[in-house]
Amino acid sequence: MLVSEKIIDTADSVIAATYKRPPIVFAKGEGCTLWDTEGRTYADFVSGIAVCNLGHAHPRVAKVLSAQAETLLHVSNLYYTIPQTELAAWLVEQSFADRVFFCNSGAEANEAAIKLARKYFKDKGEDARYRIITMEKSFHGRTMATLSATGQEKIKKGFDPVLNGFDFVPFNDADALRDKIGPSVCAVMLEPIQGEGGVRCPDTGYLKQVRDICDAAGILLIFDEIQTGIGRTGTLFAYEHFGIEPDIMTLAKALGNGLPIGAMLAREQIAESFGPGSHASTFGGTPIVTAASLEVLKTLSEEKIIEHCQEIGAYFKERLLWLKDRHEIIEDVRGIGLLLGMRLKINGEDIVSTCMEKGFLINCIQETILRFVPPLVVQKDAIDSLVEYLDEIMANIR
Ligand SMILES: *Cc1c(COP(=O)(O)O)cnc(C)c1O
Repeated sequence: MLVSEKIIDTADSVIAATYKRPPIVFAKGEGCTLWDTEGRTYADFVSGIAVCNLGHAHPRVAKVLSAQAETLLHVSNLYYTIPQTELAAWLVEQSFADRVFFCNSGAEANEAAIKLARKYFKDKGEDARYRIITMEKSFHGRTMATLSATGQEKIKKGFDPVLNGFDFVPFNDADALRDKIGPSVCAVMLEPIQGEGGVRCPDTGYLKQVRDICDAAGILLIFDEIQTGIGRTGTLFAYEHFGIEPDIMTLAKALGNGLPIGAMLAREQIAESFGPGSHASTFGGTPIVTAASLEVLKTLSEEKIIEHCQEIGAYFKERLLWLKDRHEIIEDVRGIGLLLGMRLKINGEDIVSTCMEKGFLINCIQETILRFVPPLVVQKDAIDSLVEYLDEIMANIR
């Protein structure tokens, strides 16, 4: 029996069946390549869903991790540590924000943002302001509060009653947003580019309108940059593309390049509402994870990886548009940097499986949208190989 068969048998009998997985067991990664237990290689265009932006087994991250593991893993947020402080200082320096709260995942970062927005208005004596407007087709996580904030019924199904206090409007519809705002609304929360919703980009001027609507109403703007942040779109944070800043921003995914870390960043005036005892996390910002995350951010900057992402992302998009010209089944190509999507007129699952057999990992969301989120260090030859293969298999689809 192959190692993979044994692992898959066991996994399917002991692990909660929340994911439907293909029959591959991954054993190793390096850069943009993954190896399975039988030694087959795969070009990774998923990156653990926009997580491994530096690629797999990055030597700089590995080195800092092992040094920190030999020094100090954890002490609790009851005490100060150097890596946590340095990471927070770096994030504050590079963003609109003044303070950072650390946690362990995207959902937790959004939980913190939701709690902070509510508490900010409670502290101001505006007790009735607690509702948050989010977008249809949004994705904010799987905890009770964040699934309640998510604008997709399939995520909520079976978990009623969901948390009270969320209203939904269509993405890219400023008028609908303006109409929804009332005296009980404390914030608008959205992804600057919707990731799980299908790599849906904002129309020109839309995010600026959202900012203006929030300002006029005196409410907070929360950006969920869990998928778009950390260089993915060709800027460190996606909001930089749109000439506006949020009041609160959440990060996770690529912040640790694979280590579990989330962060909620806010302006000083708002962050003040998180005083001693108001919120907490045992592992949040623990030394081992923050040391690695700081090295991830330094590497992105020192090795000019975000600049590379802009260039290679533009190249990749051009190649996808070339495919669109050649194949009628392609409806459109969307996204910026290396957060790219291709909407098909057919279900995309078969293309994903065919690619996997050939050694390309891609991903399909919302049934018809192929998502391409390779490590930001991906090179032209890998993109060309994938595009050529897609060209070949699409020619055979009728
Ligand atoms: C992945 C994701 C989340 C949830 O992050 P977890 O770490 O899985 O909890 C939330 N928001 C967005 C935009 C995401 O892409």
